[in-house]
Amino acid sequence: MPNPTETPPAHDCIFCRLVRGELPAVRVLEDELVLAFMDIGQVNPGHVLVATKRHADSLLEATPDEAAAVMRAAQRIALAARAAFDAPGLSLYQMNGRDGEQTVFHFHLHVLPRHAGDGVGLSWPRKEPPPAVLEQHAQRLRAALADLPAEAGDAINGI
Ligand SMILES: [Zn+2]
Repeated sequence: MPNPTETPPAHDCIFCRLVRGELPAVRVLEDELVLAFMDIGQVNPGHVLVATKRHADSLLEATPDEAAAVMRAAQRIALAARAAFDAPGLSLYQMNGRDGEQTVFHFHLHVLPRHAGDGVGLSWPRKEPPPAVLEQHAQRLRAALADLPAEAGDAINGI
């Protein structure tokens, strides 16, 4: 598990360059672990990206503290966006891996204010398997959770 207090290695991904100030970013919030900045695509006004300062390819490489810091920042931005843009809805989007439709391979979370009829869509193909299949899936996950090192699953080992 990488230690986020160590000096990160130089990395050339676009978000690392934004964090270092080598590329312009319209910053809105920053703390020890994360940087939040305006998404240049602005799917809706107030659309912000929250990224870790240290390079992590995805959520799976982030430390638990970094993951928590990203969500903490997202909540603050969500509260601010609701007030600033009068948006009645909010969606968080977080993609991991090419098959998960991630396009920038540096862990980040989209905070997107939402309005009725804003045209944002998500395909969600429900399969609705029978309860026995759900239990089989849960057993596989519980076995995998039991094999994780403690620091990689603190919050979910209590079920
Ligand atoms: Zn990076």
